[in-house]
Amino acid sequence: MMELARRNLAQCEGLLLDLNGVFYVDDAAIPGGRAAIERLRSRGLACRFTTNTTTSSLDTLHRKLNSLDLPIQKDEIFTPAQAAVVYIRREFGDDPALHLLLDEDTKRDFADFRQDHTNPDAIVIGDIGDRWNYQIMQRLFEMVTTFGARIIALHKGRYWQAGAPSGLRLDIGAFIAGLEYATGKPAVVIGKPETSFFEMARADLKLSGESLAMIGDDIESDVGGAQRAGLKGILVKTGKYRPEMVARSAVRPDGVLESIADLAHLL
Ligand SMILES: [Mg+2]
Repeated sequence: MMELARRNLAQCEGLLLDLNGVFYVDDAAIPGGRAAIERLRSRGLACRFTTNTTTSSLDTLHRKLNSLDLPIQKDEIFTPAQAAVVYIRREFGDDPALHLLLDEDTKRDFADFRQDHTNPDAIVIGDIGDRWNYQIMQRLFEMVTTFGARIIALHKGRYWQAGAPSGLRLDIGAFIAGLEYATGKPAVVIGKPETSFFEMARADLKLSGESLAMIGDDIESDVGGAQRAGLKGILVKTGKYRPEMVARSAVRPDGVLESIADLAHLL
């Protein structure tokens, strides 16, 4: 699978790289990340670093990457919040009212928008940790059913990898699905594995799909999502990688790396 990854990477002009589970887990860096990025630079590959993590603003995420000694520019980071801002401006025009169910820090990425906590045009949902409860769901339910607010989910992840010994943790997808079920209204989902997210990242890079690969630790969201969008999908065996989940999946990656450290030897 490593040889397959080498062949597919050789044809690429650019890369999308997942962050969480590829370059770090929680606040612990995965070894080899910096060398991999330096190799990308020396090969002249354009890249965007993506994540479905919605617990921090772009500024905070950029500071975290720098503190982990990862030489990544702010304009190389492409998050669901940034993609959502583009989507909201396109769909709702200049002055939409939003209800933001987001981590306080992530709200900074939506600072240009008006907020309305009763009758918003749309509710934007991201990670709020363990603060989910019945009152929150009831309030969202009313906004959608009584006032016709649209549901915008920054992503619809099933689970994520927390640092040891916590293991896999329930993600916001369960709450999004619950709200869709109760209201009968589908959410607009922004982040991976949505094809539109990969297309926006590709547009940002100004590259065609055939010359682009995604590297991530999630067989479905990173690899499967990228392949559906016409990119190559390469899996790393770190972060949320579990052999049994890969075995159960219908997705066949275009290469597998033990970790991001392999990238420096493959390019
Ligand atoms: Mg990941």
